[in-house]
Amino acid sequence: MPGTAAQPIQDPADANDAPAPARGKAGAAKGKAAGSGTSSAAARLAKLGLRRPVDLVLHLPMRYEDETTVVPIAEAIHRAGLGLPAQVEGEVISNEVTFRPRRQLVVKLADDSGELTLRFLNFYGSQTKQMTEGVRLRVRGEVRGGFFGAEMVHPTVRPVLAGEALPDRLTPVYPSTAGIPQAYLRKAIGGALTRTPLPETLPQPVLQGPLARLQLRPLADCLRLLHAPPPQESEAALADRSHPAWQRIKFDELLAQQISLRRAHAARRDKTAPTMPRRAGGLLTRFLAALPFRLTGAQQRVVEEIAADMALPHPMHRLLQGDVGSGKTIVAALAACQAIDAGFQAALMAPTEILAEQHFRKLSAWLEPLGVPVAWLAGSQKAREKRAAVARVEAGEAQLVIGTHALIQDTVRFAKLGLSVVDEQHRFGVAQRLALRGKAGAAEAPAAAIAAAETVPHQLMMSATPIPRTLAMTYYADLDVSVIDELPPGRTPIVTRLVNDERRDEVIGRIHHAAAEGRQVYWVCPLIEESEALQLQTAVETYETLVAALPDLRVGLVHGRLPPAEKAAVMDDFSANRLQVLVATTVIEVGVDVPNASLMVIEHAERFGLAQLHQLRGRVGRGSAESVCLLMYQAPLSPTARERLATMRETTDGFEIARRDLEIRGPGEFLGARQSGEAMLRFADLQTDAWLVEYAQAAAELMLAHYPEAVEAHLSRWLGGREHYLKA
Ligand code: ADP
Ligand code: MG
Repeated sequence: MPGTAAQPIQDPADANDAPAPARGKAGAAKGKAAGSGTSSAAARLAKLGLRRPVDLVLHLPMRYEDETTVVPIAEAIHRAGLGLPAQVEGEVISNEVTFRPRRQLVVKLADDSGELTLRFLNFYGSQTKQMTEGVRLRVRGEVRGGFFGAEMVHPTVRPVLAGEALPDRLTPVYPSTAGIPQAYLRKAIGGALTRTPLPETLPQPVLQGPLARLQLRPLADCLRLLHAPPPQESEAALADRSHPAWQRIKFDELLAQQISLRRAHAARRDKTAPTMPRRAGGLLTRFLAALPFRLTGAQQRVVEEIAADMALPHPMHRLLQGDVGSGKTIVAALAACQAIDAGFQAALMAPTEILAEQHFRKLSAWLEPLGVPVAWLAGSQKAREKRAAVARVEAGEAQLVIGTHALIQDTVRFAKLGLSVVDEQHRFGVAQRLALRGKAGAAEAPAAAIAAAETVPHQLMMSATPIPRTLAMTYYADLDVSVIDELPPGRTPIVTRLVNDERRDEVIGRIHHAAAEGRQVYWVCPLIEESEALQLQTAVETYETLVAALPDLRVGLVHGRLPPAEKAAVMDDFSANRLQVLVATTVIEVGVDVPNASLMVIEHAERFGLAQLHQLRGRVGRGSAESVCLLMYQAPLSPTARERLATMRETTDGFEIARRDLEIRGPGEFLGARQSGEAMLRFADLQTDAWLVEYAQAAAELMLAHYPEAVEAHLSRWLGGREHYLKA
């Protein structure tokens, strides 16, 4: 179909909401509106994602220029230096190209009140011609007091006729890419705005029901206003996007996002998963009976939520959030027991080998005595061991499989995977999490066939990075969330101190003291982003310094480059208290659990992010002894580093820390690009507009339940073909 690329832009009948009669007129308008009917014009716009007329209409200005008034030249000069643009109109009285200090075009403009110099350092011949003597120009720019008097450098210039009317609206400036001039965009968008019908997509009962308080204005009015606001509109409200017209835009966008997230959620419910109801008297019961402690109330609650999900024939897709040390591992183990009781396999994947290994030890110790065969899979394994493990997994002999990314390799096939647990899920990419989910079913069926059959295992994702509620609602609406909001009893709060690096000797003294009391110590070496080698070198140096300074203590060193077996041996020694001090790079950041360790020293703490500091600090405070975290820093501190360290000193509450982190960093960076569905949000800002999300949810719910046509109209207007952004 030749020409189709151009057509959607030109032909509003393609817009979802264009009524049929518009077709004829649109044909007539073709070519005029966008200033060109060529397919290259459409291709240029398509580069900006502007394919349909409605896309153009939703391409909103980033700012405005006020060309609605002209001031006398004398007044513009009087205001020079205020940093404000001004528009003047006058006649060219001279025009010359000079060559000192460099080639430039100097034009003198005059009106009744005075004279002004216009200076162009880069210019075309055509400009020289446009600005010949006697020509009347409307000129907009900033007046500066130049060496030769008041002047405008590179003003916007337009020849006008005497008495030509001024625009009565602000002039929009659109986001663009090189090669698409503003004038072109203005014309195309202006044309689309007049041609594109924009019927209300929100049903009246929704507007007047849950949304009544928002008093949303009709979208069409809002768009007309935002593309061409009258000069009396509040400049500030337009600029910071708090204007009611912006509110409507943001609301509609958030609504589209909420609807599509809910649909993704519903699509998941259409898939089947093995039903694994809890069985009385099974492994789960025996395991609970053997536990040396009682579950906290919060643990009990989330265990029930997970158990209920797993009893359903639809895949669980649940995020278990719990601060560091809140006891997520045991919850995962209980879920695994339920799967095994139902005759299925369970898998637990962790992001680092240290963590995976620790899980393996802990869970084997818990479950093997109860007769559960546990398999171990990791990258560092010897080929022969790995083959043996893979064979046990494939034969269904291993009921619980624990490991790193090695679990999702192609060679690994599960006989009957019913539950996959991903620990520290934020450390994995979306693709990796999905890969584990794709491993349901029988060994003989290739992964692709399983996906086609749409039978997927239940998935439990765990994270200690607490996601503030509003973020969870917008980014993870497709996830059910369980929260452990209570720490196991008997923990004494961690005391955090900031220590200038100059007081290193005192810190070493404290280590001595802690060790004398039978406690163990972590010393975390600085993060050196530029170079892993340098980081390693620093770690080795610190290790040597500490060995020399603490001759009566046993000091160990663990870092990412250590062969896995040695890494495991060091961790083992530390767990068993054969080492009193563990010097480590950030490899210990996640999950390591040695309750007897009660002193944490973090060197160059100012280089770490808040989430990372919180994770690191969470390695202590796991036993009943009072724990201390010393954040060593090197002055001077940057303002954000100071803020981070102050936050660490003031609170140990992971949610509060996450909230401040979000404040310091903003949502995009907070979640990491790969986590976020932020690609969908062009206008709404999750920090300032978080309050709108709840309304969007209410509206989405009501519309999905009762107004399917409105849902379609709304989605197609806002997302067009972009719904795939949500798959993540
Ligand atoms: P995280 O949520 O950070 O993964 P872990 O699962 O590693 O935390 O648990 C932290 C520590 O708390 C472990 O030593 C674990 O055995 C212990 N623990 C977990 N639940 C309880 C409980 N209900 N009572 C006492 N100790 C518990
Ligand atoms: Mg953990």
